[in-house]
Amino acid sequence: MSRNVVVTGAGTGIGRAIALRFAAAGDSVVVTGRRLDPLAETARLGGEAVRAIACDGTDPDQLHALLDELPDRLHVLVNNAGGNTDFDQPDPDDLRGIAAQWRRNFDANVVTAVLTTRLLSDRLVDNASVVSIGSIAADNGAASYGAAKAALASWNLTAATELGVRGVTANVIAPGYISDTEFFRDRMTPQRREQLVAATLNNRVGVPSDIAETAFFLASEGARHISGQVVHVNGGAHTTR
Ligand code: NDP
Repeated sequence: MSRNVVVTGAGTGIGRAIALRFAAAGDSVVVTGRRLDPLAETARLGGEAVRAIACDGTDPDQLHALLDELPDRLHVLVNNAGGNTDFDQPDPDDLRGIAAQWRRNFDANVVTAVLTTRLLSDRLVDNASVVSIGSIAADNGAASYGAAKAALASWNLTAATELGVRGVTANVIAPGYISDTEFFRDRMTPQRREQLVAATLNNRVGVPSDIAETAFFLASEGARHISGQVVHVNGGAHTTR
């Protein structure tokens, strides 16, 4: 059966890989993000199965407009949009700046997922899947970004409880370092990359397909009894024991 899938933040990196993974399986995928050009490239790579719609996941008006473009029945929602908004801003040196910094990361990583899930919840079929992309930073600490991803994981429990009455599962994937994305902007150095690889137990970087395969599994028939979880995909850089 072909499923209807929505992947947010899918013009680049992990979101694009997730969208293409579902498309390759024959699903119909809507990809969203703020910039149309990268989304159009994801759609080009995915062929007819992928439709690009520009939408800022923090903006209720744009989200309502998105709803008009979506199918009536959705089987999978992947809340992938986000990133560390500190990377795009100078370090703040006063309280006003710090407040803005924390709100930006909360907006980008929590509000996007909360609003999108609420918007689409009535369209999710029974036994649908919601997957949200968290981060190893929630456990390792990374100021406002790590705190926002920890909040996302906490909210996921609410989502799993509320949607669970209809058999819908809600899980977080917490990636470690994943290369080949725009996440780090121009901040990744060879030394830092080496450190991050050394922190893994399998001695390699993560790649977007590592996360895409996990998301695909969590949305599969075999994962119908997995809900309310944080699934760590980091080569052992953070372990739960
Ligand atoms: P990218 O920067 O490549 O992808 C993030 C995507 O999110 C972009 O395509 C961006 O598109 C979109 N986005 C950001 N804000 C919004 C918004 N308000 N509304 C809609 N779309 C938005 O990085 P990644 O692929 O690495 O990031 C994907 C997810 O993985 C993020 O949630 C990130 O925090 C998480 N992650 C990444 C890790 C890594 O090492 N790469 C590690 C752990 C977690 P646009 O700017 O066009 O809106």
